[in-house]
Amino acid sequence: MQGYHFCLALALGIVFGAALVMPHGQALAQATGFFKTKIGNLDVTAISDASGQMGASLLGGIDNEKITQAAIQAGIQGKDFPSFVNAFVVDLPSGKVLVDTGNGPSANLMKNLAAAGISPGDIQAILLTHFHGDHIGGLIDTSGKAAFPNATVYADVAEDKYWLGGGDRGQQAKKAMDPYKSVDRYKLFSPGDEILPGVKAAELYGHTPGHVGFLFEAGSEDFLAWGDIVHIAYVQFKHPEATMSYDVDKAKGVETRKKVFADSSEKKHVVAGAHLPFPGIGRVSKSEGESYTYKPIN
Ligand SMILES: [Zn+2]
Repeated sequence: MQGYHFCLALALGIVFGAALVMPHGQALAQATGFFKTKIGNLDVTAISDASGQMGASLLGGIDNEKITQAAIQAGIQGKDFPSFVNAFVVDLPSGKVLVDTGNGPSANLMKNLAAAGISPGDIQAILLTHFHGDHIGGLIDTSGKAAFPNATVYADVAEDKYWLGGGDRGQQAKKAMDPYKSVDRYKLFSPGDEILPGVKAAELYGHTPGHVGFLFEAGSEDFLAWGDIVHIAYVQFKHPEATMSYDVDKAKGVETRKKVFADSSEKKHVVAGAHLPFPGIGRVSKSEGESYTYKPIN
């Protein structure tokens, strides 16, 4: 998804509030914009950057009747689906890692990080799933300086080449990466690389040419932050063939979505998605035919 879409979406914000009750009865206070949980042996905090509405007209490869049915099943009137932008902080022994950075200063990432007790200086590494504006916008502040002064930014080599290999398309990415590059805090990886101890890059190419996920070893669990595998959860789990207008390679995007659904369901990964309903963490299971269901962990 691209950042500009959310300028309007922000004005239509939805408020989320919940109290998480741990299995042993201890209640953790959860503010509206963040959600703390434990996945295996890892502490994970989902951070809400934005929420709003997304029109069904952005979907492709699916007939209108199926979209209408999906909306009815989800109790949604009309053709606008609730939409979300989430980022995730994972506490590793080596320090705090942030997966994606949201839309930037006009959105809520910084405010909600602060609410969760996390300061920008605490973030040691930023893992980017891809270079769309709603994922890289938060790398810099309004003056163009690094918003995370101690972080090293990690990006996929194919994504870097697609956006920064010349031409106009990479203007926002260039501005976002330059402050990190200039202090040697910008590093490229290839799919399969172990980026940090216990964190591997998973090739999920399609939505963009270098779109990746991050697979965290979490003791008894595996945790996969999968970026933009799903934009409209209400439709795309049931109909993985549904594409999104922002997909650079739609056919490859569909193929990748089907593969990662099958894999995550089989291996019982806990998954986290940038556009899944906040907090955006859950599990995928096989349903009928090509369909899957998504169950949030909360
Ligand atoms: Zn996106």
